[in-house]
Amino acid sequence: MKNYKYLSKFLEKNGIRPSSQRVLMLKYIEENHNHPTADKIYVDLTKRLPSISKATVYNNLKLFLNSGIIKEVNIDSSEVHYEMKEDNHAHFVCNLCKKVHDLEISNLDINLDPISDYEIDSQDIFLRGVCKECLDSKKN
Ligand SMILES: [Zn+2]
Ligand SMILES: [Zn+2]
Repeated sequence: MKNYKYLSKFLEKNGIRPSSQRVLMLKYIEENHNHPTADKIYVDLTKRLPSISKATVYNNLKLFLNSGIIKEVNIDSSEVHYEMKEDNHAHFVCNLCKKVHDLEISNLDINLDPISDYEIDSQDIFLRGVCKECLDSKKN
């Protein structure tokens, strides 16, 4: 978990003026590895920052996205979820509980030869099925 000072410097390094709202917002995303949506981020942040507006949250998310600090996780078509860009893991979406699980897999063995003349910036791995918890509760 990174402290306020570290995250403030981190924003500066990425060309973003580190206002306290931005730092606290980044801290929230850093600490909550449950792929929050913009609405969830807004609701949770108002507990600590009662004056923050929804527009500010959306603007800051856009700013963080554009500078490559965070990334979008598209789990379903209805809502966009966010997480730190450096979190390099695969996602597993459970068809039963709809939860998104982080899997500690950074790469799948994919043959990239057919697209060797493409430049790849990021790789997202999405797996679907039934998670361990749901399988376990089915058995009991
Ligand atoms: Zn499940
Ligand atoms: Zn994730």
